Amino acid sequence: MELPSACLNYTLAVIRRIALGLLIALAALGCGPSQSLPADRAIVILISIDGWRWDYLERFSPPTLSRLATEGVRAEGLIPQFPSKTFPNHYTIVTGLTLAHHGIVSNNMQAPDIPGTFSMSNRDVLADPRWWGGDPIWNTAERQGKVAAAMFWPGSETRIGGRQATFWRDFDDDLPNHERVSQLIEWLKLPEGKRPSFLTLYFSDVDNAGHRWGPDSEQAREAALRVDRSVGELVAGVASAGLTERVNYVIVSDHGMAALSLDRMIVVDDYLDPATAEIVDWAPVLGLSPKDGDVEKMYAALKNQHPHLHVYRRDEIPAVYGLAGHPRVAPIVGIADEGWYITSKTETDRWLQHERNSPGGTHGYDARAKSMQGLFIASGPRLRRGLILKPFENIHLYNLMCAVIGIEPSKNDGDPAVTAGMLR
Ligand code: AMP
Ligand code: ZN
Ligand code: ZN
Repeated sequence: MELPSACLNYTLAVIRRIALGLLIALAALGCGPSQSLPADRAIVILISIDGWRWDYLERFSPPTLSRLATEGVRAEGLIPQFPSKTFPNHYTIVTGLTLAHHGIVSNNMQAPDIPGTFSMSNRDVLADPRWWGGDPIWNTAERQGKVAAAMFWPGSETRIGGRQATFWRDFDDDLPNHERVSQLIEWLKLPEGKRPSFLTLYFSDVDNAGHRWGPDSEQAREAALRVDRSVGELVAGVASAGLTERVNYVIVSDHGMAALSLDRMIVVDDYLDPATAEIVDWAPVLGLSPKDGDVEKMYAALKNQHPHLHVYRRDEIPAVYGLAGHPRVAPIVGIADEGWYITSKTETDRWLQHERNSPGGTHGYDARAKSMQGLFIASGPRLRRGLILKPFENIHLYNLMCAVIGIEPSKNDGDPAVTAGMLR
């Protein structure tokens, strides 16, 4: 059947109008052929809000982070590596490597071939490059001609693989958040060529409040809103530097937070004399080395003694944790169930004396526990708009950030396919 030509023209005009409308709608969603920023001009600011549990975004409605999430990509959770602690996870985020591959297997550890005990407060030991494997993204970027800057990040103070970011600061948790943001903006205001394309920023308030008062406390909410204001200050600073069209924010946390209770304490003194062991790590993952070298005796004293403490010899750690036999793992490891805390009589006595009804919160548990999931928001001109994803592992972020600034990632354990759909 033939259509009269006036009718055909009208039909074509309607189809054209619908197609145009669709294109505009798709572009607004960030999935159309929009004028996206070329990678070589893109800047990534990687922000860590330590201890921000996955559900704080909805529970506390922080205005700036909520807006960035709406305008960008967010995940319902970010899955950490085990143990869900600060140093191992921050270093996975910037290398894309498992703990066994990058070597930072805990916040506190010892190695057969490196002197001293690695711990967050032991600056001289942290500065030894032998601890730090892999290629952190600031080095990947600088090797490919970009400039990088770290406003705090585990590993950023150490020369790893013979190099370091051009700009970095000695860790000082007393440096007010406002000054951290100002420093970052100062770096961003440098002239093209000197200006970093990859920057980090770190906040500890939310983790501190979660430990002291627990994840459900008013103090945790206040800390979250305080950090949100600092992120707001940063976004305003980026605008004043005229860089809004180039900056992509990748906002993460290293882990979540679980509430503790005085009813869920595992007191080591009940099973052994703490003086007979070198206790490298405490809670919720115990790392023990018997001073007399008798691993079997100490193992037998702890094994199957408490229903919420799972005790393993180094070689027996379940495969799901990926750490079995690792030389930096203590000879005996005890893993507490979610919400259980491993402590000493001295510490519990102190709590009781101070009449603290709530021992607050902690993390470090099995990464499959929902409470251990963290935050993921990615927002900016290289990223899609209005996308909400299921939780994924933090191991994939390195490839994503490399793709945003257009650098070739070093060998890593992430899968670029997991995050490829986030890019415009
Ligand atoms: P965690 O309890 O595992 O979440 O550790 C959190 C603590 O790590 C924070 O309170 C900071 O004081 C500390 N921290 C974070 N980044 C660094 C760093 N680059 N150097 C030393 N300590 C750090
Ligand atoms: Zn942390
Ligand atoms: Zn913490």
